[in-house]
Amino acid sequence: KTRAAAAAGLGRILVFVRLRPMAKKETEAGSNCCVRIMNHNNNKSDVYLTQVSTDNNDYLRLKRLRGRHFTFDASFPDSTTQQQVYSKTTAELVEAVLGGRNGSVFCYGATGAGKTYTMLGTVENPGVMVLAIKDLFNKIRQRSFNGNHLIHLSYLEVYNETVRDLLSPGRPLVLREDKQGIVAAGLSHYRAYSSDEVMALLQQGNKNRMTEPTRANETSSRSHAILQVVIEYQVKDGSSNNNNNNNNNIVKRVGKLSLIDLAGSERAIATDQRTLRSLEGANINKSLLALSSCINGLVEGKKHIPYRNSKLTQLLKDSLGGDCTTVMIANISPSSLSFSETQNTLHWADRAK
Ligand code: ADP
Ligand code: MG
Repeated sequence: KTRAAAAAGLGRILVFVRLRPMAKKETEAGSNCCVRIMNHNNNKSDVYLTQVSTDNNDYLRLKRLRGRHFTFDASFPDSTTQQQVYSKTTAELVEAVLGGRNGSVFCYGATGAGKTYTMLGTVENPGVMVLAIKDLFNKIRQRSFNGNHLIHLSYLEVYNETVRDLLSPGRPLVLREDKQGIVAAGLSHYRAYSSDEVMALLQQGNKNRMTEPTRANETSSRSHAILQVVIEYQVKDGSSNNNNNNNNNIVKRVGKLSLIDLAGSERAIATDQRTLRSLEGANINKSLLALSSCINGLVEGKKHIPYRNSKLTQLLKDSLGGDCTTVMIANISPSSLSFSETQNTLHWADRAK
């Protein structure tokens, strides 16, 4: 990794935790809050988890969050706004993508923990996907050479190792390897002209996620939704300044931002390679397991990263590892009813650091 890349925070895996507010249903069911978040002055934060939330002293320190490259860069209490989550987790990455890099943001967590709220959000409280696109348009508007920027969106789903276009539903898409890498053949790309149209487009796309009327939550919780934003522009090549002939060289820059609302993690609790293998073929989300393997491989600095093991990791191969920044937002519920899911999510997130 170059010094410049390291200074810009590139090639890192950043891990955040977001606690959602207690739901009315959870309070009515008599559940307590079992999570507490404490932020420190030094920008680090601790997450405390307890099964009995009667007294502050009962809080069991789950993890002191410190470290160098792979750390819980922040933990967000339930009062955190969408804009605050965006600014802390993704704004810098958007800057890097505008510089021609790739990067990805994942929401990980159990069904009901707040992944879709964080990624997509609502019309009143748009999430990371919409805020990122808004920010992209604003930043481009501030550029002196803003005339030649192109923004394209694609929104797809991986469900049961089948890839589907969420913006133009139809037959499953086949993954193909070409010069640009692995692409979903026939995937539609929408040219975006403003951020206003994007929310409607994404909401529409989300309606197309795999759902079965009888077990809607069950099926939708098994699908991964991937929004990819490709930004393309031309710029004068400043590196050839000392050569008059090449002074006006125009180079093309392409950056890609991938924003992923992952399937529910409640069935994927495997934490090491052996467990992962023994679970293959079981009723476990293959793409989620493969993503865990890839992230663990990257964290451990392994040479071989098993991108080929799933559709999700094949699709994201050019946006994970290398100089790409990967942002992981682990979503958790405060309810004691979700204690073990929360514990699994925090353990998983801790391993991603
Ligand atoms: P997931 O996608 O992980 O299954 P959702 O995003 O659908 O979970 O969240 C479950 C419920 O909690 C939804 O009704 C959602 O609106 C609500 N919710 C989640 N996070 C928040 C939050 N930060 N603030 C307010 N409501 C939230
Ligand atoms: Mg969801």
